[in-house]
Amino acid sequence: MIELSHIEKRFGDNLVLKDISVTLAEGTVTALVGPSGGGKSTLLRCINLLEIPTSGSIRLGDEALDFQPGRKTGWQAIQRLRRQTGMVFQNFQLFPHQTALGNVMEGLVTVLKWPADKARARAMELLEKVGMAHKADAWPATLSGGQQQRVAIARALAPSPRVLLCDEPTSALDPELAEEVVEVLSRLAREGTTMVMATHDLRLASRVADKVVFLDGGVIVESGAPKTIFSTPERERTKKFIASLS
Ligand code: ADP
Ligand code: MG
Repeated sequence: MIELSHIEKRFGDNLVLKDISVTLAEGTVTALVGPSGGGKSTLLRCINLLEIPTSGSIRLGDEALDFQPGRKTGWQAIQRLRRQTGMVFQNFQLFPHQTALGNVMEGLVTVLKWPADKARARAMELLEKVGMAHKADAWPATLSGGQQQRVAIARALAPSPRVLLCDEPTSALDPELAEEVVEVLSRLAREGTTMVMATHDLRLASRVADKVVFLDGGVIVESGAPKTIFSTPERERTKKFIASLS
């Protein structure tokens, strides 16, 4: 379970997350939707501490951290929490000088200090899961965007994180390639992978998410089941946003 309580994030004078409190149950998928600049990426980056919240607290499994303005968060605590998360980015960010297999093995070998054999076996298992085992020895530049993103998903899952965070995982892809990524993500969802994803893709959100959180101006405007949020939103801001997409 992930619990965010009263999270605020400030960049200088700009308060980009305002009193965000939300609980994400284990084994569920949460989609963060809302206009550009609403704070979706920042919220994801706060969950894995790529950004340190200005205040509030995060509980992720057995790890709990409190944040206060002006108080530095210990590096070890950051690492412990970060290791419970895996992150998938819009533009894949594979290591260009490593094969698909090398990309998935990398963190296991360098961070977790697994022996190469064990890491290779685990990486192959993950590549199999995302339908990329046949491209294990391929270089990222020779793969399509959809294939690269599937390798990135395998890489993020390799250390068995408690939660997979995805920031616009299909936004850089043509519809057809997006579809193969959506299929992988929905299979992971059915298997009980806990996920939080920021997305503009309402099709992805309605297929995969158990819960939709609509974020605008750094606040949670409303949240609920995808069907409810997409077909009968309560708030004017949500209605406008949904209408603008269709
Ligand atoms: P979204 O992902 O919903 O489009 P973001 O989280 O990227 O929204 O951005 C929310 C706000 O935070 C924007 O106003 C953006 O300019 C600001 N912001 C994001 N990252 C930084 C940063 N590193 N430094 C300063 N401002 C930032
Ligand atoms: Mg974003």
